[in-house]
Amino acid sequence: MDFAIDAELRARLEAARAWGAAEVRPAGLEADRAGKPLPPEHPYFAKVLARGEGRTHWPGPGAAPRKHARGSTVASLLLAEELAYWDRGIGVANPGPGLPEQAVLTQGSDAQKERFLGPFLAPDRPRWACFAMTEPGAGSDAAAIRTTARRDGDTFVLDGAKCFIGNASRADWILVQATLDPSKGREAQRAFFVERGTPGLGGFKIEKKMGLKAYESTSFTLERCRVPAENLLGGESRGSARAGFSTAMRTFNAGRPVIAANAVGIGRAALDEARAFAHAHGLLRDARVRDRLELCARKLRVARLLCLRAGWLADAERPNIVEASMCKATAAQVAQEATALGMELLGAVGGRGDHLIEKLYRDAKAMDIVEGTGQIQRVIMARQLVGLPKDAGAA
Ligand SMILES: Cc1cc2nc3c(=O)[nH]c(=O)nc-3n(C[C@H](O)[C@H](O)[C@H](O)COP(=O)(O)OP(=O)(O)OC[C@H]3O[C@@H](n4cnc5c(N)ncnc54)[C@H](O)[C@@H]3O)c2cc1C
Repeated sequence: MDFAIDAELRARLEAARAWGAAEVRPAGLEADRAGKPLPPEHPYFAKVLARGEGRTHWPGPGAAPRKHARGSTVASLLLAEELAYWDRGIGVANPGPGLPEQAVLTQGSDAQKERFLGPFLAPDRPRWACFAMTEPGAGSDAAAIRTTARRDGDTFVLDGAKCFIGNASRADWILVQATLDPSKGREAQRAFFVERGTPGLGGFKIEKKMGLKAYESTSFTLERCRVPAENLLGGESRGSARAGFSTAMRTFNAGRPVIAANAVGIGRAALDEARAFAHAHGLLRDARVRDRLELCARKLRVARLLCLRAGWLADAERPNIVEASMCKATAAQVAQEATALGMELLGAVGGRGDHLIEKLYRDAKAMDIVEGTGQIQRVIMARQLVGLPKDAGAA
């Protein structure tokens, strides 16, 4: 494995650092203090577009797909870590086709790429898309979703409820996971593009969250929500009856190293802040404090290496399901440890609720929940270890 950072990537990381310090951290603190997500019209998002972000990795109609449509996975993980160092909530709030893009790139028809990713080629305004799997009664057990899709002529009619969906109320379209027959479990699952403004899509409610306040996590309902049959991801001629569920699981599998990289970024930020606080308050004279900071730095290094290994395997087009779970389970835990250590060193200052470490402490928890809890990652790894089928799926 070679994780060497070449001159081009170094320059991108340095640019990300400068942008993070100047724009991302202040925007994240602003949202945290206000206790709500930045509105779509916030000037921060226009600046994101102006620096060429918020776009699709799809090359456009007729253009040959690049081997790694997103660039090297290892590079994108390092950039994801850097962005989360400055503010992970803002990282998710950033406009763009987001989590469902990869599913559309791999499973979408040419017409679907053009229709749903096309507007992200040169966006005229900040645009978002999102992926909706979780429901009030189906989180870890993604096979248990109850949102139904019923065929009616040349349309599908969707009914159900989703919750905790990132950027849902501002999204141009939501890729909604639904079932053609709830009694058939994962085999009957399919994904549907539901565009903003479609009658029956509504009831948006932004959830209250302990951390990551910069982006919205939103519940919504689908009530006799009718979409054209061509909004079924990949169309109806797909060979595999399990493509719907497998595609969702691949989306989560690809997303886990990104969450892990985010967690390393949060942990690094907490460690830097904790070290600075300990230095300013004379705590570094205590060998026990130094020892705990060193242990934390070492664990963060391990988590990063696991994360990069998962990315390296993805770049080599080799299976990485165990490594994706391993890096996420490890990094989310270490981020919580790093922020908890910082809180401990702050003492009463942490209890005031106005120190960056206290915010990072609240932000870190979600890293253990999203895209499969730590416990679910351990279930997946243990199943692999003893040779059971891999789809122990979880959102
Ligand atoms: C900030 C945030 C953002 C999110 N964004 C999105 C999003 O954009 N899109 C989306 O679809 N979802 C999103 N989610 C939902 C997230 O994926 C779910 O919260 C997660 O899958 C866990 O589901 P749950 O909350 O229903 O917990 P549950 O599944 O009810 O689990 C509760 C506890 O039981 C444990 N548990 C459950 N099953 C097992 C098992 N088989 N073995 C051992 N332990 C088990 C879990 O580890 C957990 O500790 C988001 C959640 C949060 C907090």
